[in-house]
Amino acid sequence: MPGRSGTPGTPGVPGTPGTPGTPADETKTLPPLLSRLVSSSGRADRLTHIEHVPGRTGRTVPWPDWVSPIIVERLNALGVRAPWQHQARAADHAWAGRSVILATGTASGKSLAYLLPTLTALHEDDSGSPRGPGATALYIAPTKALAADQLRVVRRLDLPGFRAAAYDGDTPPDERDWVREHATYVLTNPDMLHRSMLPGHPRWAKFMRALQFVVVDECHHYRGVFGSHVAQVLRRLRRVCERWGSAPVFILASATVSDPAASAERLVGVPMAAVTEDASPRGSMAFALWEPQLTDRRGEHGAPVRRTATAETADLLADLIIEGCRTLAFVRSRRGAETVALSAKRLLAEVDPKLAGQVAAYRAGYLPEERRALEAALHRGELLGLATTSALELGVDIAGLDAVVLAGFPGTRASLWQQAGRAGRTGQAALAVLVARGDPLDTYLVHHPAALFGRPIEATVLDPDNPYVLAPHLCAAAAELPLNNADTALFGTTTSALLAELTERGLLRRRSTGWYWTSRDRACDLADIRGVGGLPVRVVEESTGRLLGTVDADASHAAVHSGAIYLHQGESYLVHHLDLADAVALVERTSAQYTTIARDITHIAILDTKRREAWGEAGLHFGSVDVTNQVVSFVRRDPLSGTMFGEESLDLPERRLRTRAVWWTVSESQLAAAALTPAEVPGAAHGAEHASIGLLPLFATCDRWDIGGVSTAWHEDTGRTTIFVYDGHPGGAGFAERGYQAAQAWLTATRDAVAACECDAGCPSCVHSPKCGNGNSQLDKAGAVRILDVLLRDAPNGPPAE
Ligand SMILES: [Zn+2]
Ligand SMILES: [Zn+2]
Repeated sequence: MPGRSGTPGTPGVPGTPGTPGTPADETKTLPPLLSRLVSSSGRADRLTHIEHVPGRTGRTVPWPDWVSPIIVERLNALGVRAPWQHQARAADHAWAGRSVILATGTASGKSLAYLLPTLTALHEDDSGSPRGPGATALYIAPTKALAADQLRVVRRLDLPGFRAAAYDGDTPPDERDWVREHATYVLTNPDMLHRSMLPGHPRWAKFMRALQFVVVDECHHYRGVFGSHVAQVLRRLRRVCERWGSAPVFILASATVSDPAASAERLVGVPMAAVTEDASPRGSMAFALWEPQLTDRRGEHGAPVRRTATAETADLLADLIIEGCRTLAFVRSRRGAETVALSAKRLLAEVDPKLAGQVAAYRAGYLPEERRALEAALHRGELLGLATTSALELGVDIAGLDAVVLAGFPGTRASLWQQAGRAGRTGQAALAVLVARGDPLDTYLVHHPAALFGRPIEATVLDPDNPYVLAPHLCAAAAELPLNNADTALFGTTTSALLAELTERGLLRRRSTGWYWTSRDRACDLADIRGVGGLPVRVVEESTGRLLGTVDADASHAAVHSGAIYLHQGESYLVHHLDLADAVALVERTSAQYTTIARDITHIAILDTKRREAWGEAGLHFGSVDVTNQVVSFVRRDPLSGTMFGEESLDLPERRLRTRAVWWTVSESQLAAAALTPAEVPGAAHGAEHASIGLLPLFATCDRWDIGGVSTAWHEDTGRTTIFVYDGHPGGAGFAERGYQAAQAWLTATRDAVAACECDAGCPSCVHSPKCGNGNSQLDKAGAVRILDVLLRDAPNGPPAE
């Protein structure tokens, strides 16, 4: 929003250059807040690194001369005196008709870059509109909340002739007619575009005909399968626009990512200019890396156990609230966010019962009214701390906080900076703390700060050509306008083959003029663009019929099977029954103190090999696979001690997944050279599989829950010891492919992470996995290092340096 990035021209606070050293040396120069956190209960040994992120002075430029005076005037009135250089650069590209992506940090004022051209084109002053009367623009946000925020921003400007309106699932039917007929600036989301605007495009003809700009905000969220779907939705939009005679310019706003132009081109399908140099001012930040200490407890198979990141985060959140700091704690899972809020509440209640009311949990799965109430309370200052699941779920207005605590690496460095960037007011040093979870990636990162701070942000990975994604969009496109051969250029090289297949299956009908959708069903219902595969499962309290929330279909077998514990607002609920046909889980409140973990069995078969590379006798492959998975049982876990007990079997159906995988094989003689006996091979391969899944998110924009793995001492399709890592979504999501491309760096980091772990025989920080289908049994840590060593020995760039 304009003006949020502070008063242009205010110098940022210069920061201290980063001086990595031992924590003990650094404590002396710690920022006061961090030093108080560290000194309470002797936590100094938990700091593994402090990165001093320097502040930056802002750089403004004059308003572009094409921006109307009235817009400058209105922006001035809101305190925006001049644009930052990156805002003006991106806006200039768009105004000149070049599609552009602006990829800069949180709170760098990206919205002004797309508002300048859209406001200028759409408003009408005394001399009329510079782009002709009735010019329109479409704004697309990943969430309704963000679109609602943006609507408030443009309404405040109150420009003549500029008629902005949201068009989403909450828009009442009678208002929809008004939006189609009269709005010039429509704010929506990809889901609405897919299900409503594109299928009903003739009713939008007036709007589409005059479409000048399409804004795709927060576009780094469009990655993996979801991103691939959105890429096809945008291609359908371009096609419909062409039908109505418009060719809008795309303006994309993104978090800082590598190679934004390439990702943007993959997303939209048109050439893109990129603006990446951030000219907004920034206060300095101390970024602490924090590793919870080892406890006396023992985990699975006697492994040493660290205090959990959620417990540590709850402590830090409580301490920061006591300090009067407005703090956000980002927690990876919904359940974790609940736990952090609840523990912080308990800790605060011991200090002062009034403080306990200043912290709450906030996550998806809550009902909209619950979420709005929490947002309002944080705005009013009634809440000081929120434990939340992801930046996406927050409105854009939540920035300028004193501190951000991240319970675990959020999966990508782009998200890390997005989340950390919520902290920091101009001219005031902020604090960010990354608390390591006990997994290989987090452990690697808190001990290799250069992997976080010293390398470019990862590129956004998506795969629009995934046939599972493309096929339903071809049907939807055919329903919008019959397809013809020219559309192959738009939808990509796999289109022709898919059209033949869809015709064969009777979904499309071939006529001399092209391919037609002739069914009465809605073609857009074939694609679930959020990629969750099937209806989300509703979680309902049996005695009251109250809807507590929803769980993705993909996760439902493991999360809400009969006997599972489901957490909501800090309360435990026991699942009495999971009804797969009706997609509902019936639950009842329980005082049980345990959580549950599901166990599963996975088989994998190779369908075809698309690419292969020989590393000496070892082989690296990428191709298609069939994965069969079945959740077979669950165990109960004491959250305090980590002890597992009471395994119970489940009777759930198998689920099949056709997807992409990267796999590598090693030969008998290589195993012998690594001094691995046949008895040791399964454990070594299993350990290498777990650790490599753990480290892949460092190279691809996924998290370990987006991917799966299988390892075997002898696989029937390869005849060798084989380790597979596969995309956990039908047709793949690009992660395995990225793993194949970055294999050497990825497997080297994997090897280093396992070798450097302090434990003796394997632990959650190296070879144990929270999603292991067989409870982390048969894992050989030393063997995993040896098998990775022999694999890497003949890698193209030589073996890893010691
Ligand atoms: Zn370990
Ligand atoms: Zn496993």
